[in-house]
Amino acid sequence: MSDEFTPGRAVELMPGVRRIVARNPGPLTGPGTNTWLVGEREVAVIDPGPVDPAHVEAIVAAGEGRICWILATHTHRDHSPACGLLRERTGAPVVGRRAPDGGRQDRRFQPDLEPGDGEAIELDGRALRCIATPGHASNHVCWLLVDAGLLFSGDHILGHVTPVILPPDGDMDDYLGSLARLRALPLLGIAPGHGPMLDNPAGVIDGLVAHRLQREAKVSAALGDAPVNLDGLLPSVYGDVDVSLHELARHTLLAHLIRLERRGVALRSGDGWRRA
Ligand SMILES: [Zn+2]
Repeated sequence: MSDEFTPGRAVELMPGVRRIVARNPGPLTGPGTNTWLVGEREVAVIDPGPVDPAHVEAIVAAGEGRICWILATHTHRDHSPACGLLRERTGAPVVGRRAPDGGRQDRRFQPDLEPGDGEAIELDGRALRCIATPGHASNHVCWLLVDAGLLFSGDHILGHVTPVILPPDGDMDDYLGSLARLRALPLLGIAPGHGPMLDNPAGVIDGLVAHRLQREAKVSAALGDAPVNLDGLLPSVYGDVDVSLHELARHTLLAHLIRLERRGVALRSGDGWRRA
């Protein structure tokens, strides 16, 4: 790991865009959650991360009293839980969409504002626009720094791990639809929720779509006349992925099966799945 990802250190990656990595590295989070600080005289914080007082203090110190907005891309527990603590420390309003019912979400997230698709906040005359991107999570939004063409992509697009889709809140059709929306935007760069900044957004998005469709073709090919459960399908669909990641891959596998079921390709049968 390069020292660029040293937790707690604010690193400027372009004028007015800094990143502080939280201390939560892991298979899903890469080096840790990226907390982004956008703006100079007025600062928006995107995804303050898990509750970690030291990380919040690093954000407050880097903000130098200029933090005006606290934004959450979604309410998975590695992104939004520190919003409340950061609001207490700065007085800035929290903007994001409430957690839906169901597990794996930060149900304590209490936004001051729930952004609509296309709504923007202003920082020194620069616009940060909300782009609704359901799929990884139903309440997921990306934030576009319009004048820089820079997309803060949360977990919708990641630096070097493939986003996991967790049904029923996560949905593969929504995910691919959101990627298609993003593909139509004039993007110049992507600042993801985990991992390094990405250039060539069109190539990144096309690669993600191709990866998902290739995986889906493997799922489809693995289905037979006899029902097979998720654990039985994993080795043939995810044989190229380290076994330690199969527990995570199960979720995305289910998301593909649900999409194939809608298209009349797959059928549920008891605990298993078979060809329709
Ligand atoms: Zn997430």
